[in-house]
Amino acid sequence: MSYDLIVIGGGPGGCSTAITAARAGAHVLLLESGRYPRHRVCGEFVSAESLALLSELLSSDNHEMVNSAPRISRSRVFTDGGPLHLPIEPAAASIPRFDLDRTLWHSCLEAGVDARQGHQVRYFHGNGPFTVNANGERFAAKSLVNAAGRWSFLTSSAIRDRASEERWIGVKAHFVEKNPSPTVDLYFCEGGYCGVQPVSAPTTNGGTRTVNACAMFRADVATDLPNIFAAHPALCERAANWQIATEPVRTSPLIFHKPEPVQGTMLQVGDAATFVDPFIGDGISLALRSGALASKCLAGFLQGSRTLVESAALYEQFYTRNLAPVFRASSMLRILLRVPSIIRRPAMSLLQRTPALTRQIVRMTR
Ligand SMILES: Cc1cc2nc3c(=O)[nH]c(=O)nc-3n(C[C@H](O)[C@H](O)[C@H](O)COP(=O)(O)OP(=O)(O)OC[C@H]3O[C@@H](n4cnc5c(N)ncnc54)[C@H](O)[C@@H]3O)c2cc1C
Repeated sequence: MSYDLIVIGGGPGGCSTAITAARAGAHVLLLESGRYPRHRVCGEFVSAESLALLSELLSSDNHEMVNSAPRISRSRVFTDGGPLHLPIEPAAASIPRFDLDRTLWHSCLEAGVDARQGHQVRYFHGNGPFTVNANGERFAAKSLVNAAGRWSFLTSSAIRDRASEERWIGVKAHFVEKNPSPTVDLYFCEGGYCGVQPVSAPTTNGGTRTVNACAMFRADVATDLPNIFAAHPALCERAANWQIATEPVRTSPLIFHKPEPVQGTMLQVGDAATFVDPFIGDGISLALRSGALASKCLAGFLQGSRTLVESAALYEQFYTRNLAPVFRASSMLRILLRVPSIIRRPAMSLLQRTPALTRQIVRMTR
């Protein structure tokens, strides 16, 4: 069967692409190798910039997930000294990936997308039209979007070559905590960082809540959550009172690189285009925004007013202008947080004393 568009990967980026294109009248096939619902490694911090788009993408019976999600309006950054307090304006939402990904997937089906789980794409051929092979079946389409995330068979050889040098892993689990702070707390130490935030709504009697603990850590320092918690005194003390609520999940490699919004005439969205440092909490937002943008750029081609080459160039131009600045700002912050503590301490103290500067830096990542 032939489609207007095939999307490889059904995470936030792929679902956003598929829903936007299907609602504009395109015949869309979405192929996802995994199955929903499932837990994913993620801080589960959904920045405010994409909440309106997320609600728009979801079918109306799923809006409640966004409306009832706990709001996070403050952050506490624990580095070497006392915490640095940062306002989050407007407030972000805390949404477990178990719910977010499943709900976006259902919204694809509602939008008329031919969405197939358990379909791992093994190769593609062509540069428009394309053929794609998944589970021994062949599918054809006029256009193709890579939404397969950070690491897949579509990852370019330049990034692949760096995998052996990279030592970062991601690991997360949910825990039950008594009266957790309603903030997103980032604990930085020499091995990496761990983010903690409540993901369930507060109970009326102010009792226990589920918190998500998600770390990005150097594998040569620690690979499991108990050892990661032990690497930061304040986190170690806090985690001593937690009860585990979900099995930990892990991911690797985590490789930072320049954005690659297109590969030939294939558009790339979300982490497939590039991976933004998780502590910025913007990966989901960028995946949703780049997915919607890719489909809007392809609409001209699918309606016959533009060639595929022109659509790809348009997407690359919009992406570079509107989304790429976030990556530049987050790389600056990454450098600050990973320098030796002798340099970091005075820099963090300056940020503590000048909230206007801190707010400006955070704004640059949005
Ligand atoms: C430690 C850590 C913490 C993070 N914390 C946050 C946070 O708090 N807030 C935030 O906004 N972002 C966070 N992120 C980033 C966020 O998880 C990603 O940016 C986001 O998931 C990107 O969405 P995506 O759709 O591009 O990719 P993904 O969510 O990775 O989805 C890609 C999909 O493609 C599928 N796939 C892969 N290969 C194939 C194939 N060959 N065929 C078919 N399907 C395939 C996969 O199964 C997957 O479902 C974090 C990331 C890490 C590692």
